[in-house]
Amino acid sequence: MATPFTLPPLPYADDALSPVISANTMGFHYGKHHKTYVDNLNKLSEGTEFAAMPLVDVIKKTAGNADKVGIFNNAAQIWNHTFFWESMTPKSGGGKPTGKLAALIDSDLGGYDKFKSDFAQAAITQFGSGWAWLVSDNGKLAIRKTGNAETPISGSAKPLLTIDVWEHAYYLDYQNRRADFVNTVIDKLLDWSRANERLGA
Ligand code: MN
Repeated sequence: MATPFTLPPLPYADDALSPVISANTMGFHYGKHHKTYVDNLNKLSEGTEFAAMPLVDVIKKTAGNADKVGIFNNAAQIWNHTFFWESMTPKSGGGKPTGKLAALIDSDLGGYDKFKSDFAQAAITQFGSGWAWLVSDNGKLAIRKTGNAETPISGSAKPLLTIDVWEHAYYLDYQNRRADFVNTVIDKLLDWSRANERLGA
């Protein structure tokens, strides 16, 4: 069978984000969950128009289509997870942003402390599985949350950073303490340098 969709390599070693995210969590989250979305999409798209389509196009063309929900869910989860890994860095991650984003967080989101509180609240209050996002939409920064596989890229907003708040993202390391996971990722791992690059792209 054709396997047009592939699991992108992690941008760092599986223990690089430890102790915030352990190698054990990464082994399951990247090695099992993320990989399974790729395997499922290859099975579901085989022999369809989607098999030869770029991943982002698969997401945009299947979003909101009840007949294609399986393809959408797996395609969006591939994209969301790759973006999550690329939202974090083991090198000088977390804390206050620099550059253009620092100024935009002041002007659009009420300053870093309010941003941090609001971003964490979006992540903590996402009921059930989902994602918290910092996006640029119509030239302004905004904080969003989405359920399950839903992703801002099916609409017009440009994602800058995300945090996965499915239980599989934190349960091995934090059990039910989602807030501890979210706040530690914000403090230690967010890749503001990449987010600034995305803003300019
Ligand atoms: Mn996940």
